Amino acid sequence: CGIVAYIGPQDAVPILAEGLQRLEYRGYDSAGLAVVGRGGELKVRKAKGRVHECVDALPARFKGSPGIGHTRWATHGEPTDANAHPHVSGTVAVVHNGIIENAEELRAKLTADGVEFSSETDSEVLAHLIARSGAAELEEAVRQALTAIVGTYGIAVVDSARPDRVVVARNGSPVVLGIGDKEMYAASDVAALVGHTRQVVHLDDGELAVVHAGGFRTFTLDARATAKQPADIEIDAAS
Ligand code: GLU
Repeated sequence: CGIVAYIGPQDAVPILAEGLQRLEYRGYDSAGLAVVGRGGELKVRKAKGRVHECVDALPARFKGSPGIGHTRWATHGEPTDANAHPHVSGTVAVVHNGIIENAEELRAKLTADGVEFSSETDSEVLAHLIARSGAAELEEAVRQALTAIVGTYGIAVVDSARPDRVVVARNGSPVVLGIGDKEMYAASDVAALVGHTRQVVHLDDGELAVVHAGGFRTFTLDARATAKQPADIEIDAAS
């Protein structure tokens, strides 16, 4: 349903929490976030219920960057803590909007390979596919995983083993990058970026971006670079 991501010198947690709250108007049943701590550890908190219930009681040490956040509108699996996003496999955490149509088939293959699932969602297959890719670069691991997927997605991915980047991708579910000064944002809706930046880049369907604090690079599902021009945020008076 809603996605927010941040990479830069600030603690991502309050930025993710505020961004998710700005997306609350869309409706959701669960919320969650994952950040990479200073020591390189992946910290994940997710729960059924409201964004503030998920983040209010976070311990002071739950801080870091990069980070990703999600509000879920369940399509596959009940609204439960376990089915809330992010979904984790090893050092990889993924948030996903949309529906993966061949999730059952992928889940069966992964299970036969010994993967243990911790949720009933379609989305979790993405985390395992990315974590099991042998690719050196996270963006290549994500690209390969997405070529196995049939369906719609807006995703954001962090890997605590590769904490200098966030990878996002879009196919049928919007993703927009927000450009800051030595920091970058991404979201499913510009509403989450208001107050942080006015410069945005809208991804097209079938497009991915690798996002660093200092900039980004976009490319297609078949690994061809794309050129994107940043645009000013347009606030639609009608919405
Ligand atoms: N299909 C995913 C799920 O049920 C994502 C739903 C969403 O877009 O929030 O967990």
